[in-house]
Amino acid sequence: MAPSSAPSRGLPLDALRERLRAALGAELLVADDAGVARYARDDGAEGPFPPGLVVRPRERAQVAELVALCHELGVPLSPRGAGTGTVGGCLADHGGVVLDLAGLDRILDIDERSLLAEVEPGVINAALQDAAEARGLFYPPDPASWKQCSLGGNVATNAGGPRACKYGVTGNFVLGLDVVTGTGEPLRVGHRSIKGVTGYNLAGLLVGSEGTLAVTTACTLRLVPRPAAALTLLASFADEIDACAAVHRCQTGGVVPTALEFADRLCVRTLLDAGGLAVPVPDAARALLWIEIDGDAAGLDASIRRAAQHCRDAGALDVTLAEDPSTRARLWDVRRALSHTLRARWPRRSARTSRSRSRNCPRSPAPPASSAPATASTSPASATPATATSTSTFSTTPPPAPMSPSASTGPSPTCFASPSPSAAPSAASTASASASARSCRSSSPPRCARCSSSSSASGTRATS
Ligand SMILES: Cc1cc2nc3c(=O)[nH]c(=O)nc-3n(C[C@H](O)[C@H](O)[C@H](O)COP(=O)(O)OP(=O)(O)OC[C@H]3O[C@@H](n4cnc5c(N)ncnc54)[C@H](O)[C@@H]3O)c2cc1C
Repeated sequence: MAPSSAPSRGLPLDALRERLRAALGAELLVADDAGVARYARDDGAEGPFPPGLVVRPRERAQVAELVALCHELGVPLSPRGAGTGTVGGCLADHGGVVLDLAGLDRILDIDERSLLAEVEPGVINAALQDAAEARGLFYPPDPASWKQCSLGGNVATNAGGPRACKYGVTGNFVLGLDVVTGTGEPLRVGHRSIKGVTGYNLAGLLVGSEGTLAVTTACTLRLVPRPAAALTLLASFADEIDACAAVHRCQTGGVVPTALEFADRLCVRTLLDAGGLAVPVPDAARALLWIEIDGDAAGLDASIRRAAQHCRDAGALDVTLAEDPSTRARLWDVRRALSHTLRARWPRRSARTSRSRSRNCPRSPAPPASSAPATASTSPASATPATATSTSTFSTTPPPAPMSPSASTGPSPTCFASPSPSAAPSAASTASASASARSCRSSSPPRCARCSSSSSASGTRATS
C-alpha cells in the first residue's frame, strides 16, 4: 500500500496507520493515492479534499476502536455514508481520517409486530424501502437520492423527500440510535417504541447533526403499514403564483397530499428540454406541480379529483393523471433526476472555499471577510483548515467542560464542529421549492431557447 501524498498537516497519520493495522488489520485501510482520491469529494462542489487515511470497518466494534484511537492521537475524523451529500459534510478537509460506513450494510431486523426496523448505517435507503414493502410495510422518507444514499447519512442530514409532505422527514422515523461518541464510547440513545418519550431527546439531538456529535452504528427506524394505492397528478401553470395558489387551496381544501413538489420556470424549461417528462405539458407552462395521494383505494379517486379541481380553480393550464404505476414512476424519476439534469446543464463553479469558522473549534474566530471570498476558486492545498471548509468533522479531540453536569444521562458533548452552513435540502415544506430549484436560481439563468413538449401521452389521462 503506497502512502498517500495527501498533506498530513502535522497529523500523526503514520502512527495511526500502524496502530490500526495491528488492531483492525491492513485490509480495512485505504491509504494509497488512488484509493483516497475517491473520497476527496461528495456530490457537491467542495473539494477535492483527499483524506490522509480511509478506514472501512465491517463491524460496529471496529468503529469504536477507530474513534478511540483517533481520539488518543488527536486525529480528526469524518464519517461518510454513500457520499451523496452536496455540502461537503463527509469530506476530510482536515487531511485526517474518513470513516467509510458503507460496509456496515446489514438490515438487522424488521419487526412486523412493533412496526420498526433496525439497520446498520450503510444500508441504502431503497434497500430498506424494498425490504419493508416485501413485508407489507412502508418506510416513507424518500430523498431524491434514495437509490444511492445511506440511512446513516439520512439520519445525519435529517433527509427528506417528496413524501415529507404527509409523513415527515427522516427524524420523524428515528426511534433510537446506536452511536460511538468522540472518545470511542458506544452508546444507545432513544427507544424502541413510539411512546418511549422520557429522558433527554438525545436521538433528536443527533438527527441532523451531520456527523459532528457521534458516529451512528445502528438505527432503529419506525415503519408504517404500506398504503394500498397511490395516485399522482401533474398540473401545469402559466405562472408560479398560480401554482402556489393551488397548493394553498389543496392545503385548506381537505386534500392531504403524500407528496407535493413544485418546479419553477427554469426547472420546467430544463425538464422539457431534457425530454421524457412522461406526460404532455402545454407550451405555455411556466410552473409545474406534482401531487401524489396515497391511502385506501376506496376514497383515493375522489381525493385526486378534488386536488385536480383545486388546481383548475387556481388557474391550471392542464391537469394530467398518471394512471398506471410505470407512468407514475417515470414522473417521479424525472423529478428526482432534476438536480443532476440542472447540474449537467449548468455545471457548478469551482468549490466554495470559505466558511466563517473552523469546524473543529467553535471558539476559533471567523476569518476576516477579505480572506474568505464566498465563491473564489482556491486550490485545497493552499486553503487552511480555518477557511476552506464546509465539511462536518467528527472531532475526536477532548471537549471543554459541559455546561450542565449531566454526564450520566447521555454522551458528553465530545464534538464541537458546527454543522454545514449550507444545510442539506429539506423537503419538509409542502410546496418545497426543491434544492434543485434553489440551485438553479443561484446559477445565472440562460434565456429560454425553446419550449417544446416531446413527452409521450401513454399511460395518462386528463382528469375531469
Ligand atoms: C441527486 C441527489 C438528490 C438529493 N436529494 C435529496 C433530497 O431530496 N432530500 C435530502 O434531504 N437530501 C437530498 N440529497 C442530499 C443527500 O443525498 C442526503 O443528504 C443524504 O442523506 C446523504 O446520505 P449519504 O449516505 O450519501 O451521506 P454522506 O454524503 O456520506 O454524508 C452526509 C453527512 O452525514 C454524515 N454521516 C454519514 N453517515 C454517518 C454516520 N453513520 N454517522 C454519523 N454521521 C454520518 C457525514 O459526516 C456527512 O456530514 C440529494 C443528493 C443528490 C446527489
